[in-house]
Amino acid sequence: MGEISPAQVDGISIHRIPKPTSPVRDIESEVEDQWIGLMCILQGLRRVTTPDLDEPIIKKSTQQDIADIRSLSTPDIPRPISTVIQEAHAIFDHRSRTNHTGFFSFTPANVTPLTWLGDVIVSAFNAHCSGSLTAAGPCAVETELIKWFSSRIRFSSTAGGLFVSGGSIANMMAMTAARDQKLEWQNYSKGVIYIARQAHYSVFKAARILGFHSNQVRTVDSDNFGRLNSDCLKHLIQNDKRNGLIPFLVIATFGYTETGLIDPLATISEIAQRESLWLHIDGAYGASLSFSLNRSSLATQLSTADSVSWDAHKLLFQTYGCGMLLVRDKSHLVSSFHAQSSFMDHTSRVKEDEPELWDMGVELTRPSRAMSLWFTLRVLGTERIGQLIDHGMDLVGLIQLKLEAMHGWEIITPASLGIITFRYNPTQRKGQDEKLEKMNKDISRILLDTNTAAVMTVRVNGVLALRICCTNVRLTEEDVLELMRSMGEVASKLSSA
Ligand SMILES: *Cc1c(COP(=O)(O)O)cnc(C)c1O
Repeated sequence: MGEISPAQVDGISIHRIPKPTSPVRDIESEVEDQWIGLMCILQGLRRVTTPDLDEPIIKKSTQQDIADIRSLSTPDIPRPISTVIQEAHAIFDHRSRTNHTGFFSFTPANVTPLTWLGDVIVSAFNAHCSGSLTAAGPCAVETELIKWFSSRIRFSSTAGGLFVSGGSIANMMAMTAARDQKLEWQNYSKGVIYIARQAHYSVFKAARILGFHSNQVRTVDSDNFGRLNSDCLKHLIQNDKRNGLIPFLVIATFGYTETGLIDPLATISEIAQRESLWLHIDGAYGASLSFSLNRSSLATQLSTADSVSWDAHKLLFQTYGCGMLLVRDKSHLVSSFHAQSSFMDHTSRVKEDEPELWDMGVELTRPSRAMSLWFTLRVLGTERIGQLIDHGMDLVGLIQLKLEAMHGWEIITPASLGIITFRYNPTQRKGQDEKLEKMNKDISRILLDTNTAAVMTVRVNGVLALRICCTNVRLTEEDVLELMRSMGEVASKLSSA
């Protein structure tokens, strides 16, 4: 055979074109051959959703543990699938069991086995959820679900939104839309944002990412419970206007992460309207209250917002990475997140008034987060969604009654949206107090060291408090009564020591 002249492939000279064979065939047959064994492993994964009581609520990993895990981090020789699944178990062992019934800190995972079953289905289909061209079905469900959630908070038919990875991104997108609607670009440096002192740190972070200098962000004082003080807000706005600045955005919180409390939304929304500010309500934690069977009236003020963040991985039973941004007028998202490109085919649009999802947010390639949630909600039905959300809030109500009846405990902020903060204060001291701080930190530590419960501390207006967040759907009345008993026991031992 004569010499063939070298071809240029990827800019490299190739003398002999290789005959491509599918490198995936042996992976597929390995899965096929081991399918029965893999089914058993999947069956075992079901137990992960409901950890045993004696599993570590917060795993304490030694340096050696972490070194061992690092050694599993990178590929070298091929390994059997079942071995690597065992490795995954070993790696994930080093985590907080946020779904353990003894986990009461941060926001406990509120998941059922339905949750990850939905995820498995979503992963298997792996639809490219950028728009109707690649995922007409899932995108249609996403659009309808967003409409349905919008109507829950009484947004009108102009409303819309998008599923995103969580509250932080939703907040940042809302702040982007606020900037674009309220400020001429020449005035970006004069815009001022108002954020309560106790607001979630993601909004401070987003302000910086969006290019606002720290002197364009006003920290609004809190009231005694850590909620936004509206008199202070008014005062700051007037002052900034006098100085030639342009107040354009106020961020209120529906369900503070620390306390579950809700800002005085009626007053804030009145101020926002009068001053023509964009009102963003961070409902990442609390907006799911709209589904409560007996508390949803608390959520009516959400309808006054221009935008609302809403996490489905907090109270709506989803695994992490599932949140929403809802906006009063979906065209505002399109103005901020649309860009011209020869790559994107705008002729594929289903309906003129239904923008493609790729024009409404930051991501192009994205999973169908809406379909995971859809799966859970569709199985549960509307009424059970409400019951499950009320469950944790009822339990926290019970905890409050118990604390009021037990000797020596002081409630710092009352039960709200499934959260209560309190401290052990047997001698009824006032305000900040070093001795009390140490005692309450000790209570938290002992509960954790004995694997009884993860009840962490927070500061509410300077006062160190214990915080219980009860959102795990598997928690029972007995569980919380047992927790109160253990807490009482630990506290009285400490104070008599
Ligand atoms: C959790 C939370 C956030 C952040 O949401 P992520 O989903 O963690 O990004 C923002 N605001 C509030 C009030 C929250 O509770």
